[in-house]
Amino acid sequence: MHNFCEYITGFGEDSHQFRKDQTGCVIAGTYFPDAPQFDADSDGDVVFHAICQAITSVTHVPVLGGIAIELCKKEGVRNSEVFLKEALKTLNEIKIVHCVISLTALRPRLQQHEKMMRENIATILGLSLDKVGMIFTTGNSLCFASEGKGVTCRAVLSFERPKSINV
Ligand SMILES: [Zn+2]
Repeated sequence: MHNFCEYITGFGEDSHQFRKDQTGCVIAGTYFPDAPQFDADSDGDVVFHAICQAITSVTHVPVLGGIAIELCKKEGVRNSEVFLKEALKTLNEIKIVHCVISLTALRPRLQQHEKMMRENIATILGLSLDKVGMIFTTGNSLCFASEGKGVTCRAVLSFERPKSINV
């Protein structure tokens, strides 16, 4: 019996609309005071939610649809960093090795805050900064996010997991 590793890919997606009555939104743990607040039970952090979904796509353990709902409804947790840390616990022997985030938004202006957002993600996922990539698009007026009504995030994560092979 030999122990090998295999590499697998996870994908996650999340969107939130803006509220009309309150300002201040959180994206990748970074606070944007001038943008409207997300319409969500939690802080609506689309990046952390998309990463949770990417983790669920390989573990098959519902985080946003399970653990996070419990924490949000029963304990009043609104900070999505807490949900992401819970998602990480479900990985067990699976290790995250790379993370790419794609954000579609007309507002807030995200590019100039790229480093801070990448640092936040890298710290939580336990990755070096060069293992976290981020790309931005305004969406060319083809969706609600590109009209400035909210933000969409897609996350692709690469994982390493042990594989035992009998030879
Ligand atoms: Zn969400």
